[in-house]
Amino acid sequence: MKRLTRHRKVIKEIIYKYRDHPTAEEIYLRARMEIPSINLSTVYRNLKEMVASGDLIEFQVDGENKYRYDIAEEHYHFYCEVCGKIYDIPASKVKLSFDFEHHVKDTRIMFRGICSECAAQMEVEDESL
Ligand SMILES: [Zn+2]
Ligand SMILES: [Zn+2]
Repeated sequence: MKRLTRHRKVIKEIIYKYRDHPTAEEIYLRARMEIPSINLSTVYRNLKEMVASGDLIEFQVDGENKYRYDIAEEHYHFYCEVCGKIYDIPASKVKLSFDFEHHVKDTRIMFRGICSECAAQMEVEDESL
C-alpha cells in the first residue's frame, strides 16, 4: 500500500501544481519523471480511485473523447473555442442564483467562447487587413 500512496501523492501534486486540466496520458508523462517505473494503467487506476474518494474531479469537454482531471475545489471553467485552453474561473467571480426548491450539491458549468488572448490576437489580424 505504501507504493500506491506515493503514486497518489505524485499524481495529486501534478494536478494541483499545474492546474491545466491534464488528461490521464499527460499526467502519466509527468509522473514518469518522478517515478520512472509507473505505468499508464496504474495512473488510470489511481485517478479513478481519487475521483471516487473526492480528491479529484474529472470532466469532459464536449467534442473531446477523453477525461481531464482537476482539483476538487469549487470553481468554473471557460473553454476557448479558438485555442482550446481551459481557464479556471474562481467561484467568487460567478454569481449564480437558483430559484427553485431542489438542493444543489454540485455545479459543473463550462462556459465557452473566445479567451481574451485570442480576442486580442484577432483584433491585431483585423487591423492588418
Ligand atoms: Zn483562446
Ligand atoms: Zn479547473
